Amino acid sequence: MLSKMGSGMSPCAACKLLRRRCARDCVFAPYFPPDEPQKFANVHKVFGAANVNKMLHDLPVHQRGDAVSSMVYEADARVRDPVYGCVGAISSLQQRIAFLQNQLAVANAEILCMRMQQAANNAPTLKVEPQATPPSQPPEMSSPLQPQSPELQHHHKPCTNASESGEAVWT
Ligand SMILES: [Zn+2]
Repeated sequence: MLSKMGSGMSPCAACKLLRRRCARDCVFAPYFPPDEPQKFANVHKVFGAANVNKMLHDLPVHQRGDAVSSMVYEADARVRDPVYGCVGAISSLQQRIAFLQNQLAVANAEILCMRMQQAANNAPTLKVEPQATPPSQPPEMSSPLQPQSPELQHHHKPCTNASESGEAVWT
């Protein structure tokens, strides 16, 4: 008895619940083993055994396992949440995706902002470098750099307004 758990010995969870004989070619047997009775109970409650039977028969054998997983998930969600079912989980995940995409856009904007500030910070250091400015240097070398600095300051101004972290990097 214990060594032989064949389909002929113990009916599948579906046949057990429906109180019928589990045939050798039972369509439920591969997906609803007798040790998981709740799996079929919810599916039967939500979809109805006849509908599940028809749906499985209409599908090729290699897709039935996925169909059963999907139905079990939907049925469990419907039992837990009779109003929204699995749509409740889907819509909350969609909201989370939208929130995270928004955060990603903000983070990308901050990265762009920091890169622009870094570029602005690197440009004036060439001018300020003490070793690169010997006393013999003609004044014309520094003068073309002069108009650049206010222009760069204009670039970083909207960034500092946009975020506090950007300001911390600048100072
Ligand atoms: Zn069966």
